[in-house]
Amino acid sequence: MPAPGTQNETVIQGIAASQGIAYGQVFLYIKNDVEFPSYHIDAGKHTEEIARLEQALLVTRQQIQKIQAEVEKNLGNEEARIFDAHLLVLEDQALIAETIRELEQTSKNIEVCFNNVSQRYIKAFAEIDDEYLRERAGDIRDVAQRVIQNLLGQTAQNLARLAGKRIIIANDITPSDAASIDRGHAIAIVTDSGSKTSHAVIVARSMRCPAIVGLRDLTRHVRDGDWVLVDGYDGSVILNPTEQTLFRYGKIQTQKRGIEQRLHEASRRPSITLDGVAVPLRANIEKVDELQLVKDNCAEGVGLFRSEFLYLRNHHIPSEQEQYLAYKTAAESLAGAPVTIRTLDLGGDKPLAGNPGLFPPEANPFLGFRAIRFCLEHTDLFKEQLRAILRASAHGNVLLLYPMISGAGELARANAILDECRAELRRAGTPFDETLQVGTMIEIPSAAATADLLARQSDFFSIGTNDLIQYTLAIDRGNDRIAHLYEPAHPAILRVIRNVVTEAHQQKRKVSVCGEMASDPVYAALLLGLGVDELSMTPPLIAPVKYLVRAMKMTDARALAAKALKMDSPEEIHAMCENFAAARMVMD
Ligand code: PEP
Ligand code: MG
Repeated sequence: MPAPGTQNETVIQGIAASQGIAYGQVFLYIKNDVEFPSYHIDAGKHTEEIARLEQALLVTRQQIQKIQAEVEKNLGNEEARIFDAHLLVLEDQALIAETIRELEQTSKNIEVCFNNVSQRYIKAFAEIDDEYLRERAGDIRDVAQRVIQNLLGQTAQNLARLAGKRIIIANDITPSDAASIDRGHAIAIVTDSGSKTSHAVIVARSMRCPAIVGLRDLTRHVRDGDWVLVDGYDGSVILNPTEQTLFRYGKIQTQKRGIEQRLHEASRRPSITLDGVAVPLRANIEKVDELQLVKDNCAEGVGLFRSEFLYLRNHHIPSEQEQYLAYKTAAESLAGAPVTIRTLDLGGDKPLAGNPGLFPPEANPFLGFRAIRFCLEHTDLFKEQLRAILRASAHGNVLLLYPMISGAGELARANAILDECRAELRRAGTPFDETLQVGTMIEIPSAAATADLLARQSDFFSIGTNDLIQYTLAIDRGNDRIAHLYEPAHPAILRVIRNVVTEAHQQKRKVSVCGEMASDPVYAALLLGLGVDELSMTPPLIAPVKYLVRAMKMTDARALAAKALKMDSPEEIHAMCENFAAARMVMD
């Protein structure tokens, strides 16, 4: 790998996670806690330290006001109000007075004093038994980081506002970072860590921009503003590409655009196999803004609305009314097409930043206090969401989906709470759909093994292959070191899916797949051949899957699955499925 600034063309291989080609300047995003030195300040210099603090508070205030004005212009008043709380932190006289007292008592530099005091505040707020006040801990943390960066003369980084078209190269992108990405300006997402199912990748796919993960230490070898080429088809990042390379990629891009046009045309047609089997293709979305994408890509409604992004994006817990309005907008906008709202899946790789009170640190977050486990303990929050979903069901074709169910007892408890919410709404005379379909995500092996029991209490299943593969194969879905072992075509996965489908169909329950496996044409035919009824994916990937569906016979897909079930090598199963798709997706 070259030293930063070296001019030679260098190709670095990672894992291709979202297709496409991009060429542009780097926006380097390093997520670290701000580090600062600690040193002694003579008593005579205390006034200067206080002046430095005042200056940093002033600069921070101006920065936040600027952000607030931009957010108001681009996203509206509601979103901009979040920053009011940040501005209030800067005006907190107690915090400032305590920092000065700390300086007088310890004679440490002002960064240390301000950090000590703000950490005490964060801890105190995080422990308060009041949701609103607990959330203030997150505001203080954000603002304190910014003030310390200003004291050190560093520029705060922000993925939400890029100065023009940029390729984001990051050491890591958390789900809440991913939710804030400036969709108008990010043209590719590249990360040192991560895997094909990380949320940064899911966002890249929804933006139709290339993504590459697992580049280990690329961030140490590029600088802000370097020119790079990102090939999301084969997973390579090319630093300082030569004219020849750019020319070659220009030709590839033209060719790909032609293919995209053909796919786009196919996406306007019905999703039916050559032998007449209809295959509903639905959309995965994270926010209401994506409803236009659902329509543009001709998805038959929403198969997965990841509702936790309403929480992650705003860094606060939305009220019942806020949630109701979001779900109602989705239901109305899709005019009768299904909108499957998954209840909160926070925790795991999606902690709610700034809420250590709700999500205490855990040694194994993926095996920890996540999703339905969190909801069944915080029934107040859970009920608010359930009521919001029920109320929205009066305005369209809403379905409800529980994540991370591990067994029949847990499902029974969730359903009992849902019944309580139904009863409350009935008593209040609030309308909702009495026939609302309630589904269960199958993403934990114990749920798959008890699919027969779960089917008795569910109207439908949705298989979350991202987690199901992670838990079945014991492969952390976010760990790039073992990403090569994350094998959707593993015989164990095929058997698990086959068994879930068999049990569900015996009780006349439909099965959808909403993990990333559904959006890959290599696996789509295999899943359908295993008996899966519907597929749900990020909207821009509907076109290639629909192209395949329209070019294949279901009888052939069943034969493919039957053959795959007899094979023992994931590589050979993958190759067979790849050939199946390639033979039907000829575009020349
Ligand atoms: C899954 O696990 O496949 C899934 C769709 O859920 P998420 O990716 O949000 O965990
Ligand atoms: Mg999941």
